[in-house]
Amino acid sequence: MIIVLFGPPGAGKGTQSAKLMEKFGIPALSTGDMFRAAIAAETPVGVEVKSVMEAGDLVNDELVNRLVFERLEDPDCQNGVILDGYPRTVAQAEALDVWLQNHHLKLDKVIELKVDDEALIERRAGRLYAPKSKKVYHKDFNPPKVAGICDESGEKLIQRDDDKPDVVRHRLDVYNQQTAPVLGYYLAQQRLVTLDGMANIEDVYQHILQLLGAK
Ligand code: ADP
Ligand code: AMP
Repeated sequence: MIIVLFGPPGAGKGTQSAKLMEKFGIPALSTGDMFRAAIAAETPVGVEVKSVMEAGDLVNDELVNRLVFERLEDPDCQNGVILDGYPRTVAQAEALDVWLQNHHLKLDKVIELKVDDEALIERRAGRLYAPKSKKVYHKDFNPPKVAGICDESGEKLIQRDDDKPDVVRHRLDVYNQQTAPVLGYYLAQQRLVTLDGMANIEDVYQHILQLLGAK
């Protein structure tokens, strides 16, 4: 099973992919998490992408594709994968199709989570992130058991730099200009399904399971 979770920043992709990963026992591959880990570890990739990410712009297609394709070769991806935050440009979607074809694989579904801009901004403003466990919380909508602390790892939760107010709007513009065209690409392939991402976390999850025929 190869699924793409699609939507603007804050739509709930990471939240849902964590639940799906647990349910189906396949990895969730978040390109954003990969880059954040590279930045934290100060690897050459991390050094290259740091300023781009902080500004809320997209990392170049070639680098993203290379990292994703390397990761997809890992043994734990052989039974399937949930892609979160990739592809984010038509060029990435095209490159992914070529890679899949070369590996005799196909995308099962592209699931778009549709959320209106005001809700996205509210979600991003309250998002709390655990850099080590990569768990995502929201101060009101999905709070940790102890304020400011990750339930799983006990680490301190932080606000992502690119969730700070001055970057939030810019990332929405980047989504609308560079990422939204990918929807047309998958619509033409009849792989796109759009869900109401405004519902609460559990309802969105149940809806996705239904769609995947897992309920
Ligand atoms: P994305 O990965 O698409 O950027 P996240 O999964 O990180 O989005 O979610 C963004 C924020 O919104 C997080 O703080 C998360 O807890 C919260 N959130 C996710 N889904 C919902 C939902 N259905 N209703 C309310 N808040 C949500
Ligand atoms: P995310 O965690 O998905 O919100 O991504 C955080 C940031 O990582 C984005 O704003 C981009 O700078 C970068 N990024 C993540 N995925 C991609 C991608 N597929 N293409 C280009 N840049 C990406």
